[in-house]
Amino acid sequence: MILFNKYPGGKKKAATMSYDDGNHTDIRLIKIFDKYGIKGTFHLNSGLMYKDNRISAEDIAEVYKNHEVAAHGVEHATLYNLPNHGVIEEILNDRRELERLTGKIVRGMSYANGVNPPYIAEIAGNCGIEYSRTTRATGKLTLPENFLLWHPTCHHKNCEEITNIFADLTYNSGHLLYIWGHSIEFDSDNNWDLIERVCDRLSACEDVWFATNIEIYDYITASRRVRVSVDNKIVENPTNLDVWFTVGDDTLCVKAGETLYL
Ligand SMILES: [Zn+2]
Repeated sequence: MILFNKYPGGKKKAATMSYDDGNHTDIRLIKIFDKYGIKGTFHLNSGLMYKDNRISAEDIAEVYKNHEVAAHGVEHATLYNLPNHGVIEEILNDRRELERLTGKIVRGMSYANGVNPPYIAEIAGNCGIEYSRTTRATGKLTLPENFLLWHPTCHHKNCEEITNIFADLTYNSGHLLYIWGHSIEFDSDNNWDLIERVCDRLSACEDVWFATNIEIYDYITASRRVRVSVDNKIVENPTNLDVWFTVGDDTLCVKAGETLYL
């Protein structure tokens, strides 16, 4: 039996962080992520960067250079309150400006003000968004059913217990820990020690792949495109990413663009 339950490097589990609004406190959070080798995605409002408590436009590329910059709407509007053309403008103009500031294609998003109905996800997809995070915590360590309505595992306020459970898991099933929040909450709640402890615990796990949201999306999308013959003898990878999988007790890799004959 072939199981696509491994991450890059043959790792058993993946962890990703997702932080909204681009507050100044992101700088302190990124220092912690970088110290522990944790990867995060930062969802930014390009129309609000002039505000005192936000990272300014000219600093975006430098501050977030080790992480992913993703959209969060130009003005942080609640998308389902807008007419459809307003939803499109809020997403597309945010992409356009964030791409100009970073020099990278912006393909990810998180919904401002929470959870959105499926028609908003469809509009987001039509604006070139490939995944978008909600605020509906599942408490689960699973991949999303729909990347355009990507429900996270937990908010960081409630992440410590499940992080410890995740860290202790040893069997293969492609677990994903997805933590979200706002870095400014660490200031208001005076609990920077919480994220420091969680990152410290995660970084000690050798079987965890730390990735941005889009890296998780890209890898899972690639693994689902790998073709397997009915007798499980031919494994063909038409994508541009190496994909790992298991056959019995063995972990194997089919390299980008290559075919394995087992
Ligand atoms: Zn927000």
